[in-house]
Amino acid sequence: MDIPEFTVNLKCLFCGSVLEGPEDAEYCSGDLIKCTKCGEGNDYDSVLEVVKEEGIEKVKSVAEEQLKKELKKLFK
Ligand SMILES: [Zn+2]
Repeated sequence: MDIPEFTVNLKCLFCGSVLEGPEDAEYCSGDLIKCTKCGEGNDYDSVLEVVKEEGIEKVKSVAEEQLKKELKKLFK
C-alpha cells in the first residue's frame, strides 16, 4: 500500500492565505510568522496545530481509499 505524497501548506490563521516565509526561514516554537497578505503575526504553535490536523485528515482519507481498493481486490 503506497501513500501518495502530499503537501500541507501553512495557512494564515487570520485571512487563510498561504504563509510564505523566506526559503531558508526556520521557525521554532513561540515564533510569530508574519503573514505577507494581512500582516498579522501567526503564532507558530497554533499554525502547526492546524497543519497537523489537516495532515492527519488527508492521510486518513488517502489510507481509506487505498484500503477500499485493496478490499475490492480481495473480494472479487
Ligand atoms: Zn493573513
